[in-house]
Amino acid sequence: MTPEISQRIQALAVSQTLAMSQRSSQLRSEGVDVINLSVGEPDFHTPDHIKLAAIKAVEDNYSFYSPVPGYMSLRKAVSEKLRKENGVDYAPEQIVVGNGAKQALCNVVLATVNPGDEVIIPTPAWVSYFEMVKLAEGKGVAVPAGIDNEFKITPAQLEEAITERTTLLMFCSPSNPTGSVYSREELQGLVDVLARYPRITVISDEIYEHINYTGGFTSMASFPEIADRVVLINGVSKAYAMTGWRIGYCAAPTVIAKAVSKLQGQYTSGASSIAQKAAEAAYTGPQDCVAQMREAFERRRDLVVRMAREIPGLKVNVPMGAFYLFPEVSAYIGKSYNGRRIESSADLAMYLLEEGHVATVDGGAFGAPGYIRLSYAAADNLLEEAMRRIAEALGKLS
Ligand code: PMP
Ligand code: GLU
Repeated sequence: MTPEISQRIQALAVSQTLAMSQRSSQLRSEGVDVINLSVGEPDFHTPDHIKLAAIKAVEDNYSFYSPVPGYMSLRKAVSEKLRKENGVDYAPEQIVVGNGAKQALCNVVLATVNPGDEVIIPTPAWVSYFEMVKLAEGKGVAVPAGIDNEFKITPAQLEEAITERTTLLMFCSPSNPTGSVYSREELQGLVDVLARYPRITVISDEIYEHINYTGGFTSMASFPEIADRVVLINGVSKAYAMTGWRIGYCAAPTVIAKAVSKLQGQYTSGASSIAQKAAEAAYTGPQDCVAQMREAFERRRDLVVRMAREIPGLKVNVPMGAFYLFPEVSAYIGKSYNGRRIESSADLAMYLLEEGHVATVDGGAFGAPGYIRLSYAAADNLLEEAMRRIAEALGKLS
């Protein structure tokens, strides 16, 4: 007899970012020359001084369980980083390190959401937000923003979505999947609304903080009106090219930090001891690697935007952060090639993979059908070739 899977897991969607990436690896193993612009991760290697810190940690026998919320030395380094770079005040005891920002986010959702609670999620939103809320048996409430508004929600939209069941706002700037960055003034507008609803906790996902071309970054936690209920999420995956090391954290009000630690203590224990020592080196070591990678991403952003704008039918804005382009593709819906009709942006992403050999992600996975997401965290020559292939494949549709 086939074992039965819980309704909780049956209800969960498969992560489309990871699924598209696996599909493209599979095609590649079959000999197809696919360019993978689906998964969002830096293509750079982890800087050498961070790798050396990990080697030293192995040699120094960091082989035992670490404290559940992480080594105090790392939590101190994070607390110091938040104070110096972001002007926000979280004591080391308020920081809980987990297996990537992904676990840090899910921990906080599980620690704060009761069944039936509403969680406001501006969309387009990263694939995992709604699913995490589902795991907690909460209700994700989408607040949509389109390309004409640079994918940013307004204070009025936020206020309209708030009900007496609202527990949480899950906010992300610079945004995955759109690359949009809210300015300080735009954030202030949202903060003014939140200040009127003291029972709403705010998750501010700042994982793309350093991949930001606006010249400055404002943390949601830096607004005194709401600072005592902002849970800041960050980690080393994107800023230090360390996606596989799996270190992220939440910086939270003490009660939430304690609850997250309790959850983690029963569920996963402390994150990898070696990776934590590497992350500590990332935060305390030289920071020029961060700026160098940002410069490379900005150059690639310019290249991809320029080439995408030359493709008739794609509607493109200029993303100011992260490493994603989120063009509107509805002009191609209803068109056909070789008897294959494109009914949706999901069909178009599949067509681009199979006909153009470029892996992207359907906007529908981010709650925004009619768009596709391209990650430009790839070498310049690959990006040029990918955009040429996309132009050619789209050009065949009529
Ligand atoms: N938040 C956002 C918006 C992301 O794009 C990602 C990367 N997938 C994460 C969180 C999770 O990052 P990590 O690799 O640290 O788990
Ligand atoms: N941030 C990446 C993405 O959105 C990583 C994959 C994932 O964890 O979703 O593609």
